[in-house]
Amino acid sequence: MTAQIIDGKAFAATVREKVATHVARIKEAQGITPGLAVVLVGEDPASQVYVRNKGKQTVEVGMNSIEHKLDADTSEETLLALIDDLNKDAGVHGILVQLPLPDHLDEDLVINAIDPAKDVDGFHISNVGLLGTGQKSMVPCTPLGCLMMLRDHHGSLSGLNAVVIGRSNIVGKPMAQLLLGDSCTVTIAHSRTKDLPDVVRGADIVVAAVGRPEMVPGDWIKPGATVIDVGINRIDAPEKGDGKTRLVGDCHFDSCAEVAGAITPVPGGVGPMTIACLLANTVTACCRANGLAEPDGLTA
Ligand code: NAD
Repeated sequence: MTAQIIDGKAFAATVREKVATHVARIKEAQGITPGLAVVLVGEDPASQVYVRNKGKQTVEVGMNSIEHKLDADTSEETLLALIDDLNKDAGVHGILVQLPLPDHLDEDLVINAIDPAKDVDGFHISNVGLLGTGQKSMVPCTPLGCLMMLRDHHGSLSGLNAVVIGRSNIVGKPMAQLLLGDSCTVTIAHSRTKDLPDVVRGADIVVAAVGRPEMVPGDWIKPGATVIDVGINRIDAPEKGDGKTRLVGDCHFDSCAEVAGAITPVPGGVGPMTIACLLANTVTACCRANGLAEPDGLTA
């Protein structure tokens, strides 16, 4: 069997189109432009690239992008004061603090200072609790993107066995909550899981969010299963020339694609969905803040 490739790049483009359509509608009918504020502390090169891409795509869908770049030695007091200002700013509907923060800043404290209604990353403790209890919340972008692709591929997920490998607060745990919300039978596997290959072999849906290059081989995959590969790992690629590298996921793509029914590639799978879902969350937050109808299919 050769798996169907789930094209995250194309899917993300459709999400962005839906967001852009809804943004245009809100602007026209209400005179409101959704605004996303992104706060970057320090000069981490990967974070700078993410923030640049987020700002660019925010503007492309017709929203306002507000960027705050702060020095690496910014005090907690200064950062919290900025968040307080953004919380109060009616033109800002979404606030994202780019992680990781420099060591001297307490990430939990900073994230929990964001107004939960504007917490478009879905990391605030209130949103975590709302998601865990099946209530309307802001949903973390990467798992939301995975859920959208799974719903699109399967229709109903009800009764399917899902194994999520990885238990991080950013991906693994919220992913498991979302799958549970869609009535999957969910197992969360992690670094201490016994007989991981056997656990994974029982899954109709495998979501790998570990951060270990090509850790999941094809012989762990049940024939016909859907594989969502969240991992982004850079490895050496001597075949491309000296010092060259390439990106791979947490799943060994070629062997998994031989067995799976469907699989997301890396790159071009989950990655592009993350920013698209950030934009979706921002327009959702704007609608909720203004008592407007939310766009269909852009939330959990
Ligand atoms: P993390 O390091 O916070 O968590 C990794 C998890 O994997 C942990 O819960 C750990 O228990 C588990 N784990 C580690 N070794 C294991 C093993 N041998 N067997 C089973 N489980 C094991 O990572 P994260 O933030 O959840 O990210 C995971 C991966 O997803 C990374 O490659 C990251 O780059 C990628 N990621 C991608 C996106 C995206 O937009 N596509 C977003 C977030 C993270």
